[in-house]
Amino acid sequence: MRVIENLTKIKQQLPSHVLLVAVSKTKPVEDIKALYDAGHRDFGENKVQEMVAKHEQLPDDIQWHMIGHLQTNKVKYIVPFVSMIHSVDSEKLLLEINKRAAKYNRVIDCLIQIHIAEEETKFGMSFQQAQELFESGSYKKLPYVNIRGLMGMATNTDDMEKVRSEFRSLKEFFDRMKQQYFIDKPDFDQLSMGMSHDYRIAVEEGSTIVRIGSLIFGPRNY
Ligand SMILES: *Cc1c(COP(=O)(O)O)cnc(C)c1O
Repeated sequence: MRVIENLTKIKQQLPSHVLLVAVSKTKPVEDIKALYDAGHRDFGENKVQEMVAKHEQLPDDIQWHMIGHLQTNKVKYIVPFVSMIHSVDSEKLLLEINKRAAKYNRVIDCLIQIHIAEEETKFGMSFQQAQELFESGSYKKLPYVNIRGLMGMATNTDDMEKVRSEFRSLKEFFDRMKQQYFIDKPDFDQLSMGMSHDYRIAVEEGSTIVRIGSLIFGPRNY
């Protein structure tokens, strides 16, 4: 299978501390199952409905990563099974995740998405908004949410020096937040950055989770 070869090739290049999330959005469950049978467990989706449908058709021990913009009214559909939410971009969303996860007695790993790209279309908090959230400490009162780190997407450009500087600024912010607010929380240790075209740079700049779709599954036809 092509997808297995592709995944194996990427994995061989990644340092062992970097988690590879295979982004399977728009791709059939057969492709996911092939990778599952080859031993892979971490998959990413960006739409709630699609993730729920695939979850129902696939083995229970898959680790599902929500990487797309999440509306509060859809949180309830994924909290029973989701492994990590990379795209938390408001305190309101954190509150909703906490409330819904409580019903299942699950603690959900969350990343705060930071807007580092030039494009305005990309979601996420500004550095300042995220710092205000950490400064307030309000998330500490949410026992069903575990903030594990940050996520960011670089500008979609061929200018790799620009991409590198965006990743670098996110890593610097991550280190600063860790030092200032999470010194007693050693599991604030995840930085999700890097996609098919920029994951090598992201890893060089300190990524611990890469989210790779087209390089594994081929181009998407929307
Ligand atoms: C689609 C998507 C990816 C993967 O993109 P590729 O370029 O196909 O690797 C990664 N992160 C997010 C948030 C995405 O929506």
